[in-house]
Amino acid sequence: MTWQATVLTLYPDLFPGSLGCSLAGRALKNKIWQLDTINIRDFAEDKHGTVDDTPYGGGAGMVLKADIVGKALDTLDLQKRPCYYLSPRGAVFTQEHAQTLAEADGVVLLCGHFEGIDARILEHYPITELSIGDYVLSGGETAALVVLDAAVRLLPGVMGDDTSAHEESFSNGLLEYPHYTRPAEWRGLSVPEILRSGNHGAVAQWRQQQAEALTQARRPDLWDAYQHDKINMRKGKGHEHH
Ligand code: SAH
Repeated sequence: MTWQATVLTLYPDLFPGSLGCSLAGRALKNKIWQLDTINIRDFAEDKHGTVDDTPYGGGAGMVLKADIVGKALDTLDLQKRPCYYLSPRGAVFTQEHAQTLAEADGVVLLCGHFEGIDARILEHYPITELSIGDYVLSGGETAALVVLDAAVRLLPGVMGDDTSAHEESFSNGLLEYPHYTRPAEWRGLSVPEILRSGNHGAVAQWRQQQAEALTQARRPDLWDAYQHDKINMRKGKGHEHH
């Protein structure tokens, strides 16, 4: 079955954007996934196409109207796929979320603009807020592209080599080891001898060591979680998620 993404936005021209190229673009052409956009402005009720209004209680900026966004959402069955509002107030999107999304039938993404949307939308519909990081974007569209990119590349048949997803950063709780390709010598820098040895066991061990050292040095948070998981696995508790 085709994985179905629907994006509600004021700027449908931003899609498929980067998702029309490379892995995601080829998968889109091959109908491994499908992308629909719904233009929120199509649901405006006046001749000016008004979709926003000033906030109750005062303050700067404009708020997307619940009545307009609601009509756009009413065209969809929100029970069939997970539905997210891209928002800096949401839980921060991780590789685990991407994996969960790739295992669903698809996703519905609502993009805000200006100051955001009327809060009643989030009360009325089964929508979860989802952030891509601790910074503020001008709209949810770039965040939606990030979420879709991370999920789509995990769909079966999108990445050429099925094992590549398992060894990547975050998938096993570690940052990835460094990569090299020809030439073996470049500007006085050589590729580590062990990678050219043909000894697969030694290569695997070197990569594991590199991944662990890198994670320990750069991401103490990931390193602690990794150590914790390893201890639990030895105790037979299995893999715990954080
Ligand atoms: N006033 C809001 C920010 C609005 S930014 C606040 O302070 O929380 C405008 C829109 O950009 C939001 O409605 C949201 O859809 C999107 N957006 C901004 N930052 C984001 C982030 N880190 N992750 C996901 N979406 C984001």
